[in-house]
Amino acid sequence: MAARSKTKKPRSRLKPDVIEEMFRRLSDADPAPTSELDYVNAYTLLVAVVLSAQATDAGVNKATKPLFAIADTPEKMVALGEDKVRDCVKTIGLFRNKAKNVIGLSTALIEHHGSQVPQSREALEALPGVGRKTANVVLNVAFGEPTMAVDTHIFRISNRTGLAPGKNPLEVEQGLVANIPGKYMRHAHHWLILHGRYVCKARKPECERCLIADLCRFEGKTVAL
Ligand code: SF4
Repeated sequence: MAARSKTKKPRSRLKPDVIEEMFRRLSDADPAPTSELDYVNAYTLLVAVVLSAQATDAGVNKATKPLFAIADTPEKMVALGEDKVRDCVKTIGLFRNKAKNVIGLSTALIEHHGSQVPQSREALEALPGVGRKTANVVLNVAFGEPTMAVDTHIFRISNRTGLAPGKNPLEVEQGLVANIPGKYMRHAHHWLILHGRYVCKARKPECERCLIADLCRFEGKTVAL
């Protein structure tokens, strides 16, 4: 069958028992998925996620390895200073603004949160450089909360499969939080990102080796089921 447009939407949402089966398989295949961003504590996770906007995880890890070796707390980062932080992250896109935000958020953590990363969406989103997506990653990964950060991979898979079709990231996020069984929410973010990055790729999804191919409603599937 000829491949159809990759942006074509599925006809309808998946049923709850299909979603349960989808996550059962993803869970069986990779029971404890982890972030591909390197970090050593909640603070360095927050910094790594802020640096990762419009950059690859590998590129961010390369820059943060020497940075976190000398600055793994807000105090150490502020002591290092914006110029040195900028120098450490200069290989990452938008590095000037990101270095400024790293110092700004570190200062705010010291001044308002006892140097700790707050477990509150409102407090996180008030930090320089931190938006809804970053807050969702930190709440999920550092604190185990059932939040869902929708990146380009998760947006694509949610629409292709019928898991949570939506016109924008917030609509997809709300659909995912409503549709994914609670017991899978802790790891759902990573399962979906990894699936999008390595199997359900943007240009050419590898449906022939996809473990949820028979459940997926994408009309452009490259495998007949
Ligand atoms: S079958 Fe799998 S790889 Fe293909 S579109 Fe669906 S989820 Fe993506």
